[in-house]
Amino acid sequence: MSQPPEPSSPARHGVAQDIDWNDFRDHLATADPQGNRRWLHPKKPSGKWHWRRAWFAFALITVMFAGPWIRIQGNPLLLLNIMERRFSILGRIFWPQDFVIFAVAMLVFITGIIVFTAAFGRLWCGWACPQTVMMEMVFRKIEYLIEGDAHEQRTLDAAPWNARKLFKKLLKQILFLVLSFVVGNTLLAYIIGSERLLATQFDDPRHHLVGLTFMVLFTLLFYAIFARFREQACTFICPYGRFQSAMLDENSLVVAYDHKRGEKRSPLLRNQPPAQRAALGLGDCVACRQCVAVCPTGIDIRNGTQMECVNCTACIDACDAIMDKVGRPRGLVRFASLNNIEHGEPQRFTARMKLYAGILVALIALFLFLVFTRAEVGTTLLRAPGALFQVTADGRIENLYTMKVINKTARDLPIELRLENRSGTVRIMGALPFIVPRDNLAQTSVLIELDPATLAGSGTKLKLGVYSNSKLLETVNTSFVGPRK
Ligand code: SF4
Ligand code: SF4
Repeated sequence: MSQPPEPSSPARHGVAQDIDWNDFRDHLATADPQGNRRWLHPKKPSGKWHWRRAWFAFALITVMFAGPWIRIQGNPLLLLNIMERRFSILGRIFWPQDFVIFAVAMLVFITGIIVFTAAFGRLWCGWACPQTVMMEMVFRKIEYLIEGDAHEQRTLDAAPWNARKLFKKLLKQILFLVLSFVVGNTLLAYIIGSERLLATQFDDPRHHLVGLTFMVLFTLLFYAIFARFREQACTFICPYGRFQSAMLDENSLVVAYDHKRGEKRSPLLRNQPPAQRAALGLGDCVACRQCVAVCPTGIDIRNGTQMECVNCTACIDACDAIMDKVGRPRGLVRFASLNNIEHGEPQRFTARMKLYAGILVALIALFLFLVFTRAEVGTTLLRAPGALFQVTADGRIENLYTMKVINKTARDLPIELRLENRSGTVRIMGALPFIVPRDNLAQTSVLIELDPATLAGSGTKLKLGVYSNSKLLETVNTSFVGPRK
């Protein structure tokens, strides 16, 4: 898209006059030409899109904070316990043995991002990313509540320290810290589970030093992100913005400025009718810079699609409000593809998008198939280390095994083993019935006895069925050693 020069460098909306606003290619929007950080004070957004986002964010925040406390069949909605390698997704417990499902889930996630970005640009960033949602819908709102809108914040920042400023700044930082603690604890609950989180908070601290350390680290991390890094977390740290440019094409739907309609931009003169502007070759953009004033990443959408744009829609609302005031149709800044703006083409589902979407559907189908056909148990049966075979008094051959059973269900399972491809006896050692608690792992020894006549040689392949209440759950293979024939 074209980037015509701004006719003037207006000093309104707190924009410093000594900054050349057309040098956006030379430095980041949040840095001045000397490379110093330019602290942003985005104007309070309001409008149709903002309220849509606010309701969506409210739903997401509710789910995000309630998530660790929601149970499905007694299991957490989402648990990512990396240390103990226990995972719960939608109440289904996954173990490291389910790594194929994890690998497919990762492919679904990555392909989903590619498809989504190709079709809708960075919609994820502005609407669903927890960092943006919390920053713009919680932390920024608190800032507006305490310090006021952008110009009041700038005035407060520039004012000398006095009791009022100290009170406002202190109150804001304390609230930010408390909220960061809540966010940090929520993340911790997703990792260690809500019960352990409560234990870490209320038990003797000496028993939870690791948990407490992470609690402090997460709190400080989120405090740094929301109080200090802010938009820089999106532009410097998050890799997604960097690779979006490889996925967008001229049919991707992004927040865009309609330069064909807007240029040549020029301030609106008092009582200037649209016909007169058209006769002068002027477009609908009245160079008010409201779209820049509301931008939480400090960019000018009129410079075209940029890496920093998180598709938050604040500039759409700001520009629509201006268009209403000047009596021009809304949508000078809107969700549109480049082809829509350049050639008036409707949004198209391109062959590339169809291919990506096809792959995504296939991966989701594979993922669901794996999840719903997953065995209820995961059994390993290995011969006891160092043990060969024993010959019993009646001449039968015995092998000793170690059996580990993972119960992936939400109920305790009594387990029995049966030989499927040979006759013989299988004895589970220890207390019977051998019960594997729900979502847990149990280990025991197993003794298998075979008649020497049934052996195929020094190494005989065995197939065993793992049963619970006479229902076959899975089959496992192992080998049985005996004397050479
Ligand atoms: S808000 Fe609209 S009219 Fe004002 S500068 Fe931005 S694009 Fe132009
Ligand atoms: S350019 Fe518009 S949509 Fe993009 S981040 Fe700025 S305000 Fe949000």
